[in-house]
Amino acid sequence: MSGLTDRYKRTIDYLRISITDRCNLRCIYCMPSNGIKHIEHKDILTYEEIIRLVRIASKIGVKKIRLTGGEPLTRKDLSKLIATINTIEGIEDISLTTNGIMLKQQAAELARAGLKRINISIDSMKPERYAEITRGGSLDAVWEGIKEVEAAGIHPIKINVVPIRGFNEDEIKDFARLSINLPYHIRFIEFMPIGAKEIWTEAKYVSTDEIKNIVSEIGPIYSVKARKSGPARYFKFDSARGVIGFISAVTHHFCDTCNRLRLTSDGKLRPCLFSETEIDLRSAMRDGASDEEIERLFRLGVEIKPERHYISHERSFNHLKPMSKIGG
Ligand code: SAM
Ligand code: SF4
Repeated sequence: MSGLTDRYKRTIDYLRISITDRCNLRCIYCMPSNGIKHIEHKDILTYEEIIRLVRIASKIGVKKIRLTGGEPLTRKDLSKLIATINTIEGIEDISLTTNGIMLKQQAAELARAGLKRINISIDSMKPERYAEITRGGSLDAVWEGIKEVEAAGIHPIKINVVPIRGFNEDEIKDFARLSINLPYHIRFIEFMPIGAKEIWTEAKYVSTDEIKNIVSEIGPIYSVKARKSGPARYFKFDSARGVIGFISAVTHHFCDTCNRLRLTSDGKLRPCLFSETEIDLRSAMRDGASDEEIERLFRLGVEIKPERHYISHERSFNHLKPMSKIGG
């Protein structure tokens, strides 16, 4: 079945699942230095529960699944989860968003399990600065992981970068240049005023327009039509092997083409990243709800999906759940 259509004529066929709120890094823009209060283990969805929900979601037309977190690679037996999701009828695409620290050990297994695509977050190409932004991460480990992903044949490799003024905006051109010789998708994500209480100020926010102007100083970029571009708008340098994506989460909101629902690691169905409205699928499941009842809750999630978000760079929205809890 093709995806459900919501009240604003958007087809919803994508479910983004946070499989854990735990992380092996503490990126300054995502988590406070002392971490976040974790969801109790008993409240985190089991793999069996996640698989059941994906099966039900696939019946109403969800075709694409992205696994994220927290850091999804920190959860045991991730490849087994992927292999099972891969057998579910109707699921055409499984992808992963990761910080890449543990990829070297897991890339081959993930590819064998059926992982099709991977997004890796890197916010600096300078090892010391990377360690500072992530509060202790090893950039070497991430590059080694990326090599393994390439060797395993997962393509394309997408690199997510969040430019933040005073931290890494001076590396925007270096990241953009990576797309010239490598077939990577380099994606710049606007710094969002959530989950970053300790460092957020409006002055640190760098808009897509500004990022694009900086990238254009290297040379002209041309718009590329990507068949399934999601929230990113893609461009490329003439004769470059890779592309550059801009995700204007804050300014030019991409809500009119949003095709996704989110599932938090504790089983809340969240129709919009920036709205705290959630439907508690975990309690429903654990209270004995049938597949038909859960399916109705998924349909309700689609029905109440808001038309757009109202966040802006002008004030903090740090009262919203951090990305690591929702699944960024
Ligand atoms: N740990 C994995 C990772 O870092 O890729 C997956 C989870 S992380 C929450 C997903 C994405 O959210 C990352 O690309 C990260 O850069 C982004 N993110 C987290 N907080 C953000 C913020 N305040 N503004 C913009 N992007 C943010
Ligand atoms: Fe962890 Fe990803 Fe958040 Fe960094 S952005 S702290 S890697 S969840």
